[in-house]
Parts: sequence; C-alpha cells; structure tokens
Amino acid sequence: MNKSVIAIITVVLMIGAAAVFVSAQQRPAPKPPLKVFISVDMEGISGIVHGDQVSPGTAEYADGCAWMVGDVNAAVHGALAAGATEIVVNDSHGSMRNIDPGAIHPKATLISGSPKPLSMMQGIDASFQACILIGYHARAGTEDAILDHTISGSVVRAIRVNGIEMPELGLNAAIAGYYGVPVVLVSGDTAVCRQATEILGKDVVTVAVKEAIGRQAAKLRPLSEAQNLIQAGVKDALNKLVAAKPFKFAAPYRFELDYHISAQADMGAMIPSAKRAGARTLVFTADDYIEGFRTLRAMINIAPAR
Ligand SMILES: [Zn+2]
Repeated sequence: MNKSVIAIITVVLMIGAAAVFVSAQQRPAPKPPLKVFISVDMEGISGIVHGDQVSPGTAEYADGCAWMVGDVNAAVHGALAAGATEIVVNDSHGSMRNIDPGAIHPKATLISGSPKPLSMMQGIDASFQACILIGYHARAGTEDAILDHTISGSVVRAIRVNGIEMPELGLNAAIAGYYGVPVVLVSGDTAVCRQATEILGKDVVTVAVKEAIGRQAAKLRPLSEAQNLIQAGVKDALNKLVAAKPFKFAAPYRFELDYHISAQADMGAMIPSAKRAGARTLVFTADDYIEGFRTLRAMINIAPAR
C-alpha cells in the first residue's frame, strides 16, 4: 500500500469516527419504558345495558364484542399518544374470550381465555407503570347500575376486605397495588365511576360512558363520543402518572364473603382457612393479599349456583 492510499484511508476513518461522534451527540436520551396494563370487563362497555349483550350464544353478543373492542382500542390509542412502550390487554369477562384478536390494535398484546390465577388481573407485575380498568361495573347491590354484581352474580351477595364492601375494581386495584402499580383510569357507568372515586380517591380519572336508569336500561353517550373520552382520559391519566399512588389495604387482610344462600356457605366452609360467621357468611384472614384473593376465588368457585 503506498502512502497516498494510507492517507486517504486515514481521512475516511477520521470522517467516519467524527460522524459517529456527532450522531451520538444528537441522538436523544432513551425514553423510560411506559408499560401499561389494561383489564377489560364488559358490563361497563359503551352501549351495553343488558345481559344478552355480554353472553355468548345470543343474537346481540356480537354487537357487545364489537363495542368492547371499540372501547379497548380507544384506550390503546390514548396510551400510545402518551408514549406507552408496551401495552398488555387482559380480556376479563366471563369466558375471557370476548375480544377478537384480529380486531384489537396491533400494538397491544392480548391475554385471552380462562381460568387464570389472577383472573381479571392476569399479566400484571411490578414492571408496569400504570393500570387501566375499562368496561367495569358497580358492586352487587348498587342502585341504578348496569348489571351490578361482584365476581359472580349467582354466588356472591357481598365481599368485604378489612370491613369495606368492595366492587371488583377495588379487589383488582389492590392486586395492582400489591405490585406497586397505580390504577389511573376507570371507565363504565356513572355508578362505577362514583365507586372508583370513593375507593381509589379523587385523583383517579373516571370516564362515564352511560348513566343507568335501573339495572338494564341507561342513557347512553354516543359511542364515538364515549370512545373519544376514553382515549383523551387515558392520555391525560398517563401524562399525570407521577402523582398516582398504588392502592393498598393494610395487612393483615380480613376477607368476608356473603353468599346468597346458606347451602353455598356449606360448600365454601370446606376451604381450611374459612370460618363461619353466619348462615351465609365466611371469614378468613391472610397475611399476603394475593394468597387471600386466591382463597376468595376458590370459595366462590367451589359454591354451587343458587
Ligand atoms: Zn363481566
């Protein structure tokens, strides 16, 4: 190799090194990950007012599923607008196979099917920064609330944790809280939004997509307007994430389960930690919330429908 060739190679290498240096200087700092977990129930989805719309095998079920995907994708769009780097959606209603994998936004990972150990919260862990509850409903025994129930309409009359009667949103927010993840938004009817604020505090963003007139009728927001509100609400909630606090009960956790009938409590009492506190009521205490939640699920699943 002669000297002039070596000189040319040296100059080319120097220019290359300088270019790498400049591009490294100009490259923006990597953004922190924003992992968002979305649990999606069905009774609180925009447009839904009746059990037929959330039950496979009925003429109206397909419409319910389409509306469900509409609300989910609105939440996914809101999360992406806020800079979400990973989004996990857990189908959380009934068979947990309601969301069409072909219709959900391709940036979201779908968890489909049941049973799952954490049920409506399957997939959450400490790596997530925020949790969103879409399509939720009020607890059993709430007036003017679409399809109000708690976990199982045919088995559960009420669930209390540390003396406070809980809707599913509270039981599930405490699972998120167990992993240090705050619930930042809840959507559903006006009744569940009211309960979300009562339990999680005034900072949680709520999106009311309908106002119930009894258990099976509601004044609906137009679907497009409801979905726009969900999208904007999710973006807003994630933008002010720094102020959000995980929801936790104080340990030890005292769970009380009121069944509808005593025959159900007879079955639930087979669970070793259960104590009978009345004809229809079982009580137990757990030091670990997830362990307590799983015991509660077993007590519900073991009981015959009324
Ligand atoms: Zn449901």
